[in-house]
Amino acid sequence: MNSKKNILVIGGCGYIGSHMVKCLLTAGHEVVVLDDLSAGFADSLLGGKLIVGDCGDRELLNQIFSQHKFDGVLHFASYIQVGESVTNPAKYYQNNVAKTLTLLETMKDHNLKTLIFSSTAAVFGEPDYSPIDEQHPRVPINPYGMSKNMVEAMLQDFDHAYDFRSVALRYFNAAGADAEARIGERHQPETHLIPLALQAVLGKRPALKVFGRDYETPDGTCIRDYIHIDDLSTAHLLALEYLWNGGETAAFNLGNGAGFSVQEVLDAVEKVAGKPVPIENTERRAGDPARLVADSSLAKKTLAWQPQYPDLSTIVQHAWQWEQKRPTC
Ligand code: UDP
Repeated sequence: MNSKKNILVIGGCGYIGSHMVKCLLTAGHEVVVLDDLSAGFADSLLGGKLIVGDCGDRELLNQIFSQHKFDGVLHFASYIQVGESVTNPAKYYQNNVAKTLTLLETMKDHNLKTLIFSSTAAVFGEPDYSPIDEQHPRVPINPYGMSKNMVEAMLQDFDHAYDFRSVALRYFNAAGADAEARIGERHQPETHLIPLALQAVLGKRPALKVFGRDYETPDGTCIRDYIHIDDLSTAHLLALEYLWNGGETAAFNLGNGAGFSVQEVLDAVEKVAGKPVPIENTERRAGDPARLVADSSLAKKTLAWQPQYPDLSTIVQHAWQWEQKRPTC
């Protein structure tokens, strides 16, 4: 294993960030978290030092980078709601793009040039083919995907101009929770299928709306690629190690490579929970492609990454354990 490193996790109190902090601590690294707590929770941290602040605050960043010598930065702090990005694009370009530019510039000024960036399958837009590999054209169809794509472009330019090394990781559907249910998905508002279905089973909310049964898929519901949050975190650690070992700036698609339909997810939820999911069939949700499945062979080959929890049932089981004991928010 690599020697102990100092890592800054921006947005470390969020769903993916908090599992990443757990992964880094387990690997024996020192962790500092910068989070403004706008969407994250301080009690989602299993360790590390928390600095509450804005990742676009240049003065604060200068101060942090003067006080700490980091070996790498992981950047998770972004807004993630596709629908909101359509109605309020300014919020997304301001937070996800402008603040990230300030972060990158400040890192460069402090000669800190190792970054792992949270990107998304939304950079691809409507897929031309499936599974989606890294060669697939990137034509985002909403401001959220566009904001991530713009940062990916900035990272390429920073690499060429400043020797700034980064890995952009394009997540498909992050899901599941810590196997011991210490942390898990805690979005506010929650928009994701698995927690919503589990909460509907528990009677914490009304019936789950199934957004469309008329897609061109075997059962008519949308197909997605669900990847366990711990497997996602491991990929980030491997990406950091890849950069520390001299790896070039890159972008990788992260998923299981197996697609499951909304109906298959609901079947898995019913099996794990032992109760039916109350559902309501509704219209399609705007902007949902029929099928989004990752080809992650490049990440597997380059990073020697292998998902540990590829089974949908395990992902749902961990989410279920978390959902039963989680704080109300
Ligand atoms: N979905 C649904 N009802 C919900 C939430 C999601 O039918 O209340 C569907 C959604 O249309 C998509 C899949 O579940 O096909 C996964 O959606 P989610 O929002 O979890 O993730 P996304 O794929 O949008 O990143």
